[in-house]
Amino acid sequence: VVDVDALLRCPCCHGALDVDGNGRRCASCDRTYPAAPGWLDFLLPEDAAGLDIETNYEWDYRHDPRVSPLTLERWRILAEAHADAVLTGTHRPVVVSVGGGGENWLLPHLDQRVGAYLVVEPSEAQLRETRLGAGTPGLLLRAAAERLPLGDGSADVVELHSVIDHLADPEQALAELVRVLRPGGRVTVTIGNDGSWYRRLAGRIGIATHDEHAHARRFDVPGVRALLAGAGLQPMAGRTFAYLRLPSRIERLAERLSPSARRRLVHATDRVGRRLLGPTAGGMLLVVARRP
Ligand SMILES: [Zn+2]
Repeated sequence: VVDVDALLRCPCCHGALDVDGNGRRCASCDRTYPAAPGWLDFLLPEDAAGLDIETNYEWDYRHDPRVSPLTLERWRILAEAHADAVLTGTHRPVVVSVGGGGENWLLPHLDQRVGAYLVVEPSEAQLRETRLGAGTPGLLLRAAAERLPLGDGSADVVELHSVIDHLADPEQALAELVRVLRPGGRVTVTIGNDGSWYRRLAGRIGIATHDEHAHARRFDVPGVRALLAGAGLQPMAGRTFAYLRLPSRIERLAERLSPSARRRLVHATDRVGRRLLGPTAGGMLLVVARRP
């Protein structure tokens, strides 16, 4: 059983922490980190003010009209592929989900199969909506990706699920992820693919796909691989999913299909799309990289 508390360190100086009431106090620099109901608060006031961190980010897919029943099926298929990429040995990994607050699509596929699951999230609104699995020891930590409250080499896996385009400083955040990752550990990046066939097509003929927001940088498979390699990681092959993408109005007709029929539809169109359009042209991407 993993002692999750023993993995925690001061996000400022990486000193050991003492229990201080319900919160923590750094034994080296004497900073204090209060406890909130459900999480420990390691977000430094100067980071919350200085970095452009989304401390009040709030999103609920249930109220997002772009999310259709087929979208949910694609997310499940992506989460299964992610679990396969993470659960590679007999050892149950310590997983750190950076920006993983709110509804979490990856955790249900990892619950009871990992040694520990730590969610790091700067937004209180998202933390309030976060539910850890019943079968996994875990903690919720309010902190910035650029300054993680974890010791060097404490994680086997760091996941960035739909997060990399929200980071205030992706290069700084990746350097910090590498610090907390043990040698041989893995980083996983999952996100909408800016290199998908339909976004390239829409760009060429001038149609809005309604997901251009927040994409200050292009995150296609080569772009994510380059970012990971720049942080000193060894990117492995990237995969893309979700080749079928119809206007949401039409996609909502899939409500009439059974869940298994939706799944067969997504799998079948992915198989055909991958063969016809290549491995990097789907609507969602998964890239895994290894710390040497
Ligand atoms: Zn300290």
